[in-house]
Amino acid sequence: MNTPPKKIGTDEPLFKCPSCKAFLPNTSVPSFPFCSDRCRLIDLGKWLDGSYTTSRPIDPTGNDEDIQHKH
Ligand SMILES: [Zn+2]
Repeated sequence: MNTPPKKIGTDEPLFKCPSCKAFLPNTSVPSFPFCSDRCRLIDLGKWLDGSYTTSRPIDPTGNDEDIQHKH
């Protein structure tokens, strides 16, 4: 009745660089999913700078006690 569904896999899907939102031509980019090594480092820096550290507060005062409690 209708036209047959398109073949899947013939066209490369479009990917976006998570850092600068640039479109990637395909997945063979060495720095995939980022468009470049620079963008990869920028995104990594965001992680280390922001959410990652805030979710894991560092308490230097509780460190000694913890070691003594170890059996
Ligand atoms: Zn980018």
